[in-house]
Order: sequence, then C-alpha cells, then structure tokens
Amino acid sequence: MTATRVRGIRLAKRLDEVGFSDIVQIRNKVMAMRAEGLQVHSLHGGEPFFETPDGIKFAAVKALVDNQTHYAPSSGLMPLRKALVDKLAAKNSIQVTADEVIATVGGSQGLYAAFLSVLDPGDDALVFSPYWTPIGDLVRGAQARPLLVPTITARRNGIRKTLEQFSTPQTRTIYYNTPQNPSGLVFTRAEAEEVAAFAIERDLIVIADEAYEDLVYDGEHVSIASLPDMAERTITCYTFSKTYAMTGWRAGYAVAKEPFMTALRKIVLYSTNGVTTPVQYAMIEALTTPESEIALKREEYRKRRDLLVAGLNEVGLDCEPPAGAFYAFPNIEKIHKNSRTAAQILLDKAHIATIPGSVFGAQGEGHLRFGYAITIKEIEDCVEALRKFIA
Ligand code: PLP
Repeated sequence: MTATRVRGIRLAKRLDEVGFSDIVQIRNKVMAMRAEGLQVHSLHGGEPFFETPDGIKFAAVKALVDNQTHYAPSSGLMPLRKALVDKLAAKNSIQVTADEVIATVGGSQGLYAAFLSVLDPGDDALVFSPYWTPIGDLVRGAQARPLLVPTITARRNGIRKTLEQFSTPQTRTIYYNTPQNPSGLVFTRAEAEEVAAFAIERDLIVIADEAYEDLVYDGEHVSIASLPDMAERTITCYTFSKTYAMTGWRAGYAVAKEPFMTALRKIVLYSTNGVTTPVQYAMIEALTTPESEIALKREEYRKRRDLLVAGLNEVGLDCEPPAGAFYAFPNIEKIHKNSRTAAQILLDKAHIATIPGSVFGAQGEGHLRFGYAITIKEIEDCVEALRKFIA
C-alpha cells in the first residue's frame, strides 16, 4: 500500500528533461545582493527601460470600469484580432484573416503552444544557437530533441548547407528567431530565403519568434511567413512585451494557418482560456501607437547599444555592434574562458550582473550577455565599473 503510494508520488516523465531558468536564479542572486545594501549594475535583464505608456494603461483601467471583466472569446476579442490582421499586413507583409491570429499570454504561450502543436515525442527541432534558453525546455517538454545549429558557422558556410548537416530524418521544425536573443543578430532577407527553401524542400514547419521585430538598427526585419509558400508552414509568435514595455501584462499573439491554428486554439483554451479581458483592451490601444513613436524608442535603444559596445571594446571585451534586440554579446575570455566563472567574477568583483553565454547553448560559451535596455546613466556607471575592474 505504502509502496504504491510512494511510486505514485513522482512527476510525469515529460518534465524530466525540462530545466528551470538559470536567468531566474541570477535575478534572485542580484536581489539578495541588493537586500544586503550592495549596488549592483543590472545588465542581466531583458525589460524595456521605459514604463508602459499611459494610454495603454488607461485603456485597461477603462475596460475594468466598464465591467469588461467577463470571459472573452478564448482566441481573443474580434476587434483585437482585426487590429492584428491590419498590423500584420502593414508591417510584416503577412496576409491573414482574423481566424488565423490568436491572442496569447505573452509570446511565451504562443511558443509553448507552437512547439506542442508541431512536435511528437521522438521528433527533432533545429535551433540556431546561441538561442533563447526556454526554447530548449519547450522542445524537451514536448519530448523532442533540440538540434543546435551554430549560427556563426551557418552564416560562414551557408545556412542551407549547415541546416542539412545538422538535420536528421526525425527533424520536424526549425525555430527561427530574428532579431535574436542573446546575440542581437538579425538574419538578412537572403538568409531567411535560404531557411525557407530548406523548410520547403524538407517539408518542415518553421516556428518564427519575432519578439524583437521593432528593434532592428542595421538591416531590415523580414518575417519569414511573408516569403512565397511559407505562410502555410510557419507559426509566427509575437509579444507586446518589448515594443510597448508590457512584460508584466503577459500579452502576445500567434499567427498560423490550419491545421496549426486549431491546435493553438485548443492549447490556449485548455491552459488559460485566453488572455485576461482588460489586457486585451490594452492590446487594442497599444496597436494604435504611431510607428514614429516606436522609431523614437528604437533610437533610444541605438544610443544605449553604441555606448555599451564602445565601452566593452575599450576595455578589451571584443564586441561587434549587434544589429537588433537589446543585448550585447561580447567575447569575455579576457576575464575567464568559462562564461559562468566570468559572470561570477564580474558580479563579485565589479558588481555587474550579466548572463553567462553557456546558458544559451554551447555555442554561447566564451561570451556574456549584457542587456542594455536600461538608462543611459546605468550604462555609463557599468562602463565605469568595467574600466576600474579591468584596469
Ligand atoms: N522570444 C524571445 C527571443 C524573448 O527574448 C522573449 C522574452 O524575453 C520572448 C520570446 C517572450 O516574451 P514574453 O513571454 O514576455 O512575451
């Protein structure tokens, strides 16, 4: 009897290979240091430097006051989905109907639903690496295997050739993130076309992650679903977190054709039954933000990027200016070859919090991720602390 009970107290196997974010552990360490009264330069995060604009907040408050507190359609309010259809046509050259978009709880729920909709146990997923850490866990949670494709090698030797090299007969999907977290890399149109050609040739599904679509400083943002014959085999995931500084609202959306949209709808229905109703009103308001305002924010980020990258290179931490997102990913072997040790040294000795590159896959080793979505003053202070530390 007891033995049976003990055997029963165990987790479902699908969680065996799923980790818990290292980044959260670093955040906790920083909070503990602060609680001790230490000043810590926080470059470990990935949150916009500004607050959610007032108009967006007021829209949520108005929805609450107007008693928009009931169930909404689990896939999203129709006015929201229509606004998303217009945005996708205007900005991403993706032509869809309101039935082909779904509101999600942040970009994260869209990605979670996408991987679960596409992958069977035993399947493989090609993931350009270094990659945003949760993706490995999402793939493993679907009882599939991430196949890490070194992005730098792929760029040097040819994207298609490299994807071929890493692909297996079990490969079912390619995770395609541009601009990338953590490297800030932005794939070119020609590279997107190569990925698309490979996906079509091998009959693969692309899971596109465009969380940082509005933060491209050099080059252009190309939505892979807009390329010929790609809409039917692409699930694209977006978030309001970065563009509108809405990380805590948990607002995002996904775009897909059938049969994937039905699958996304089921997963959203049975996990959260949709996005909180007042938040959906805030999302509608956010979508009215003029492009000129988004461009102003982008310029603010560009200033931060240039300041941080100049500081890193000045102290000998070689860093190419990242073309997008809000992370710098310098080579830190000057501090220590092992990125976990380097991050620890920097935190202990200079009170600079960063994320070790190895957290983002083996291809991230030898690097640290510095998030520059912070104030100019905070970047200047960090650069000063680096100068003192390295001198
Ligand atoms: N994709 C990438 C590459 C990200 O960096 C993030 C957040 O950091 C997300 C998706 C999802 O963001 P959220 O769940 O906050 O919308």
